[in-house]
Amino acid sequence: MRINIAIDGPSASGKSTVSRELCKRLNYIHLDTGAMYRCVALHAERLNTNINDDNQLIDMLESLAIELTDDGKVLLNGEDVTDAIRTDEISMAASDISTKKIVREALVEMQQEMAKEKGFVMDGRDIGTVVLPDAEVKIYLTASASARAMRRYLENQKRGIESNLITLKNEIVDRDYQDMHRKYSPLRQAEDAILIDSSDMTVTEVVDEVMRIISEKI
Ligand code: C5P
Repeated sequence: MRINIAIDGPSASGKSTVSRELCKRLNYIHLDTGAMYRCVALHAERLNTNINDDNQLIDMLESLAIELTDDGKVLLNGEDVTDAIRTDEISMAASDISTKKIVREALVEMQQEMAKEKGFVMDGRDIGTVVLPDAEVKIYLTASASARAMRRYLENQKRGIESNLITLKNEIVDRDYQDMHRKYSPLRQAEDAILIDSSDMTVTEVVDEVMRIISEKI
């Protein structure tokens, strides 16, 4: 039996890594909805869209096509933007533009259409609460801000990007605050979601735990 799995949680909690690993084990498809909000932010920035003007937001959305390829690439109107959407500037711009109702409605519709069939692991902020309220398994993945900042720091180091641990932690805390306190679809744990605090867990331990939860369901 194929099901849909919703994984929500704050930034840098390991949602994407865990989702990718789950998809490998289950032969499911990963939909990274954060990448979609990042694409919108990049597109709006390039078009100089005033995000406080709904008409400009509508125009911007009309000229936007997002594709998430099977091999993990993110295409914006056919252009590979996989790396371009991962900057700190786009992280915050994505959080800003994702507060807009028009943007959320457009993306939620796309996401629901993408996951019409079963067999998806979708990660984001509002998957269990809004996008896939009927998902068979819902996980709320979190970790302390310090643990998340440290992971991001080590990830950057590996990629040759210099960063400052305190700045990273501050950015994570600011973005979470904005995501949790916005008017539309704020980040919160769905009532039927299972909480996993991964502060002291390895990726494999988290994936094993989610697999155990899945096997209880099916
Ligand atoms: O997950 P990621 O850090 O790539 O997401 C970037 C931003 O997109 C988040 O900070 C959040 O504001 C927004 N987002 C959202 N709803 C989702 C996924 C991401 O509002 N389902």
